Order: sequence, then C-alpha cells, then structure tokens
Amino acid sequence: MRTFICLAAAACLSFGATAHAEPMARLNVLCGVDEAWCTAMKQVVRTRLRIDATVTRKSTGDILDQVRREKADPQTDVWWGGTGDAQLQAADEGLLQAYQPPSSAAMLPWADNFFDLSGGHSAGIYAGALGFAYNTDLLKQSGLKPPACWKDLLDGTYAGAIELADPNSSGTAYTALATLVQLFGEDEAFKYLGRLGANIRAYPSSGSAPVKDAAHGETLIGISFIHDAVTLRQAGYPLEIVAPCEGTGYEIGAVSIVKGAKNPEAARAFVDFVLSAEGQATGAGAGQNQVPSNAGAPLPPGAPDISMIRMVDYDFATFGSADERRRLLKRFDSEIRGIP
Ligand code: PLP
Repeated sequence: MRTFICLAAAACLSFGATAHAEPMARLNVLCGVDEAWCTAMKQVVRTRLRIDATVTRKSTGDILDQVRREKADPQTDVWWGGTGDAQLQAADEGLLQAYQPPSSAAMLPWADNFFDLSGGHSAGIYAGALGFAYNTDLLKQSGLKPPACWKDLLDGTYAGAIELADPNSSGTAYTALATLVQLFGEDEAFKYLGRLGANIRAYPSSGSAPVKDAAHGETLIGISFIHDAVTLRQAGYPLEIVAPCEGTGYEIGAVSIVKGAKNPEAARAFVDFVLSAEGQATGAGAGQNQVPSNAGAPLPPGAPDISMIRMVDYDFATFGSADERRRLLKRFDSEIRGIP
C-alpha cells in the first residue's frame, strides 16, 4: 500500500513508488593510486557526490601516454594519483586544464609549491618516500646480509634477487631514477643502474609490483615507495623496510583535470573532494599510508615519519620538466634496458 502526503495540490510525494532522483553525473577517471583506493573512491563519490565514475587503474607513465593519445578528443576527465612529475610534464605539454580548488588554504606548504610549479594545473594530494623492502623469511633462508644502502644492492650475492619497475610506465621507478641522479650525479647514477641491472630479476610495469613480489616471496628485494611496503607489512607479510643510508627521494602524488574534459562540472567536484580532508581520509580507510596534503586530514597511523628519513632536496621543477623526463627515460632505455 502506498502512503501519499499532499503539501499542495500539485505536490504529492508517494513513498513506495519509484523515486525519480536527479540522474547521476558521469565522470571518467584514470587512477594512479593503489587499486584498493581506486575501487573505494568509486563507491564514495557515488554516494557522497552522486557521480557515477568509471575509475580505471593504470601506472603513471601509461596514464600520461593515454592522455596524450586522447589530446584531440579527450575521453578522460580527471587524472587522479600517481607521481606528480608526470602531471607536471602533462601541464608542460598543454594537456591539463588550470583549476584553483577551494581547499587551497588548507594545503601543506609542499603541496602549495607543487601547485605553483604546475602553473595551477595540478594539485598535490599526498607525499611518500622511496625505499626498498626485503622478505625476511627469504633472507634468513639464504643467509644473505640485510641491505641498508643503495650501494649494498650492487653486491653480487643479490644476483637475480631485486626488482625495480620500468620507469617508462611507472612513476615510482621514475622517482627512483631521478633520485639516484640527484644523489650520485647523472653519470654515476647510470653506472649504478648498469651494475644494478646485473642483480635485477625483472622490471615490471607497476611501481608497487616489486614490493608486492617481495611480500609474496617471489623476489628477495623490491624497490618501491615505503608506504606501499608499510601497507603490505600491516597485512602480515614478512617485510623489513629500508630507508637507504645515503638518503632517498620522494614523490608528490597529484590530481588534475584534463584539458577539454567532457564532464567539467563533475571533474571539479571530484577534484574538490579528493583535496578535502574527508576525501583524503578515504586513503587511510582503504589501507593506504601516504602523507595527505590537506592539513586537516588525519595521518594514517602507519604512515612513515618522513621527517626521520634522510631526504634529497628533490628538484621537481627539473625532473618534472617534459624535456628532462624524456631525455632521462631515453637514456635509461638505451643504456640500461638495451632498447634502442
Ligand atoms: N601506488 C601507490 C600507493 C603510490 O603512491 C603510487 C605513486 O603515486 C603509485 C602506486 C604509482 O604507481 P606506478 O609506479 O605504477 O606509476
């Protein structure tokens, strides 16, 4: 039986009848964070923003390639997550739409700097340090020494026991490449990567694959972001996490609206939400451990204390510039991977 409430002759609400709600807004998001967070965000924006989003997880370099390919007829509205250097490159190449989000005043200083550097085209959403992690069970079985420094990874006893992602697809691995260049100088860094190559078991396309493979015992050591390793250790995997003794680099993960986005209003609402304290708390809710850029967002309890890690003064302007990124990747392909 239906109940009718008539407030006026023309306004009768029928409970039990099919509700004629506003149609949901559509949105296409390319998602560079961990799959668990991509999936959680799709649900949250559906209920909180009434946005029916297609959220597709891809590695950072693959997102850049897709946004480039779609330049003449963009199918993507928002690029959410993944290392910000590639979004700086996209801004440089004219692929992004400038947008000033309302939450700018709540952002931490490193996110303000990143936003300025992008010319107002891309906003920082989280930060995280690079490092590596080793499987403690495998280390015990093999009787090998635990590595503590980047240079330790060159030891011949680790032959075939280390994974690093491919920096062409992976923002994590590009951060590793740029970090080594900043720590050792470019030529020394390439010599280092050449020698490291002798110990590399695989260059997977996704940046979290190395620590995931270490967690599953498929490789001894994985080079990845420390927060990815923390998430796996919290899940019970036997991982020891290392912030390398020489120092390390870090990422600023970012969000941008694609120039020519077909759903600009929903894109702005999405960006506003992922920059808000509530939106950023969804990361911790999905088991993620990055440091949020909104000062009002809670720090995930397991987030590494980046103030305790010896950090290079990471030069985002240089290593996020389109020319430098292209040049370093080309050199990596020709000298390290042997790809002409
Ligand atoms: N997963 C997490 C948790 C990250 O913080 C990042 C970088 O922003 C990525 C994945 C990036 O993935 P990829 O290295 O595959 O581009």
